[in-house]
Amino acid sequence: MPQIFCSVNNCHYYGQGNLCQADKILITSDTMSQNLSANIDAPNAGQITPTPVAKCPETCCKTFVHKNDFNQNTDGVIKR
Ligand code: SF4
Repeated sequence: MPQIFCSVNNCHYYGQGNLCQADKILITSDTMSQNLSANIDAPNAGQITPTPVAKCPETCCKTFVHKNDFNQNTDGVIKR
């Protein structure tokens, strides 16, 4: 897997050096992310409708989970 660098340091998957430690992530449009339930994430990526956007700021990481959220494992993503 390629290295994913991310500065969102309040994410459960955030790692030292701004290196994401999730075994997989899902990037989608902001709109799609807001409409999907919390348990739909990278393991379900093949079932999600493609979502074109016009600009970079219209995308987001659906895999984000706050480090203090007790539901960190509902998305099926593993922290390496
Ligand atoms: S899961 Fe997403 S928001 Fe969280 S550290 Fe990885 S890339 Fe960043």
